Parts: sequence; structure tokens; C-alpha cells
Amino acid sequence: MKTQVVIVGAGPTGATLALLLVKQGIAVKLIEASRNFHRVFRGEGLMPSGLDALEQMGLLPMLERIPHRSLDAWEFLILNRLLFRVDEPMSVGGKPTTLVSQPAFLEALIEEARTYPNFEFVQSVAVQDLVWRDERVCGVKLSDERSISADLVIGADGRNSIVRQRANLAIEQQSQTFNILWFKLPDSQLFESENVFYLILNGDRAFSLFRGSEGNIQVGWTLHDTSAKWKQIDWSKMFASVSPTGLAEYFRQNAEAIERPVLLSVVVGCCPRWYVPGLLLLGDAAHPMSPIRAQGINMALRDVIVAANHLVPVLHASKYTGIDAALSQIQAEREPEIVRVQELQKEELTQGQLLIKSTLLQSIVSQLAPLIGKRIRQSWLKRQHLLRQGVTKVKLTVE
Ligand SMILES: Cc1cc2nc3c(=O)[nH]c(=O)nc-3n(C[C@H](O)[C@H](O)[C@H](O)COP(=O)(O)OP(=O)(O)OC[C@H]3O[C@@H](n4cnc5c(N)ncnc54)[C@H](O)[C@@H]3O)c2cc1C
Repeated sequence: MKTQVVIVGAGPTGATLALLLVKQGIAVKLIEASRNFHRVFRGEGLMPSGLDALEQMGLLPMLERIPHRSLDAWEFLILNRLLFRVDEPMSVGGKPTTLVSQPAFLEALIEEARTYPNFEFVQSVAVQDLVWRDERVCGVKLSDERSISADLVIGADGRNSIVRQRANLAIEQQSQTFNILWFKLPDSQLFESENVFYLILNGDRAFSLFRGSEGNIQVGWTLHDTSAKWKQIDWSKMFASVSPTGLAEYFRQNAEAIERPVLLSVVVGCCPRWYVPGLLLLGDAAHPMSPIRAQGINMALRDVIVAANHLVPVLHASKYTGIDAALSQIQAEREPEIVRVQELQKEELTQGQLLIKSTLLQSIVSQLAPLIGKRIRQSWLKRQHLLRQGVTKVKLTVE
């Protein structure tokens, strides 16, 4: 009998791993709680490291069939003045950061996996618990009372992972936890000529704005306090008051179209241990990522490559000792990159917070922008290298 793998969660981690494994002839059941992939919010930014992971998996042509668009540039504005701009791609011959419609991407992955008879997609039902035998995980219990047996369970159920909780794998949470309000607004001619990712700082107000893969304008507003005061804010007035003229006009014109935002609580951390016998955590379930510089999907895709390299041979061999030994090797290979990337994200956050906390510093930087912008740009670019290319070498060895 074939080794049975159960993957919990069909986000970027679960769906890509399922496809890689079924292509290798391994039996996979992928369980997804939500009814469709158009949940309120899914990140879209793929860095060159994530695009490279997709290329290695043979999945880049898939992007051509789904909504995606590359970024043309990044612009940093302080007190309505341009501090610096960086064009994409940032290296000669490199890939530009690309926004990819995540619902369409996940649907395409599942569609392809369905063409393999050893794949089963169990949708609209949540995993509630794990099944254990002799201190080894041997399956999952679903919310509809069903149980599914497995030789290996992969927890790819995101940052609030129930699999992680049921396996008693605690997470060490970092202090870079904050909240973001996410808005989707109508497209405008203003963004037609080029797709710029704006980072805007004005006093204690900080937000980012870009044109998403499906053509709407996405705004991520950083919330400093945990109260619900934001619900009373007139957002078109607020956005317009902290934006340069062209953007301010856009917000005023679209005042009616600004709907209530989605509140996203950012959790950042890493599990000291990603596995127990019979179970492995991957992606955000093992190491929830901050949205800073769009790292989470990229790290998830790189986790998947390393996991496939280690798992495919032992899953074919079908011996529990081999499978369980591979789990610690996967963590050992992936953890150094995750730790480093989370440190780099924290450095980015600390730089931003330093400016947010001091309006005096903002005003000095803004006034001196023509003089010091170039130097700040250089030092920002230097920090981006690892965040764009990845820290360790990740190469898919199973074809
Ligand atoms: C505001 C914000 C913006 C972000 N922007 C970006 C970005 O632009 N680029 C980037 O690379 N990263 C971004 N990230 C991070 C990124 O979203 C995550 O790192 C990435 O989605 C992790 O993928 P995953 O598959 O591990 O988990 P998820 O994407 O969270 O997927 C988990 C899946 O599991 C399902 N699930 C959950 N519980 C159960 C259960 N009990 N049973 C069955 N299914 C279950 C969920 O429905 C979901 O489909 C952002 C994060 C935030 C908070």
C-alpha cells in the first residue's frame, strides 16, 4: 500500500507541497477549511527568491495563466517629499518583485494536482484534532466527525495553526507584533503608467499602497494602538491629509468606494521544534512571518522545496523511522534562513519605527532628502539583497 500523506491547509505551503508530492506518485489528501480561496485577504508579493522557487518547481508558466503584474519601482515618501526611489528589477537581469493573485494561483495548483489519481482534495471542512497511536501522530479528526489516517501529517494551516496547538508545539513569539488595516480601492489612471509600491510616512501615520494583481489599489495602514478608534475614522479624509497632491485627490474622488477595512493582526515567531513523530509543521504554521518586504510566501515555497527533497525518498521507502528522521533534517536546513530573514524584517521595522517616533527626525530627513536621499537609498538597497534572494541555497533535487 502507498504511503498516505495528509496536508492540513491549502495555502501556498500546502498546495505547492501537495502538487510536488503527487507528481512523485505519493498519495496525498489535502484538507482545506475555507469554502473557496477568495478569503478576505491573502498576500500577493513574490520576491525573486519565491519566483526562483516556482521556476525550480516548473510552476512559472502557471503564472502566465493567472492575474499577475510586476512592480516597476518602490518610492519612499516622508512628509510628502520623495526620499528615494528604486526601480525594479533591482539587479541587472534579475526578476522584478511580482504581485500574483493568490486565489487564482491556489486554484491552478489544485486543478493540476487533481489530474493525478493519487490526489484527493477535502474542502470546506476543518481539522480539529490529531489522532495518535503509540505516541506517534497517525491521522487527523475533522469537524464533520470523520477521521483520516496518515503515515505523515503536514501542518500547513497558517499562523494560528490548530495542528501546532494539538501537537503541543509552542511558538516563540517575537515582539514585532502589530496590526494592519487592509483596504481595497478602485483602480485609477493614476496607476496605469507604472506600478509603484509606495511607502508613505507622515507624522505617526504610516501606510503602503500599490496596484494589486487584479487591478485594485491596495492600502495597508499600520495601526499603533489596539483600540477600536479606527472604526470612527473618515478614511478618505485621513488618507488625503497624509498624501502628496495626486494621491490625495485620488482618495477624495474615491471617498464613496472606501469600504470598511480588514483588520489583520500580524504574528511573528518561530517554533523551537517543528515536528513530532508522524507530524511536521511548515510555512506560517512553523514560523509565522511579518508582512514586511513580502517574505512569507517566498519562505513557504522554499520550505516546500527542502521538505520535498527530504521526504520523497523516505515516503517511497515507507518506513516510519526514515520518515521521522527526515523531519528534524528539514527543520535543521530551513531554520537558519527563517531566523535570519525574521531578523532582517525586524531591522526594517526598527528603522521605520525610529522615524515614526520622531517628527523632528522626519522633518530633518524630509528637508535634507535631496542631499541624503541617495545615501539612504544605498543603505536600503544593501539590506534588500538577502530579503530578495534568500539567505541559504535552496535547490530542488527531486524531479
Ligand atoms: C498583512 C499581511 C500581508 C502579507 N503580505 C505578503 C506578501 O505580499 N508576500 C508574502 O510573501 N507574504 C505576505 N504575507 C505573509 C503570508 O501571507 C504568509 O506568510 C503565507 O500566506 C504563509 O503561507 P501558508 O500556506 O503557510 O499559510 P496560509 O497562507 O495562512 O494558509 C493556511 C491555509 O490553511 C487553512 N486552514 C487553517 N486552519 C485550518 C484547519 N484547521 N483545517 C483545514 N485548513 C485550515 C487556511 O484556510 C489557509 O488556506 C503577509 C502577511 C500579512 C499578515
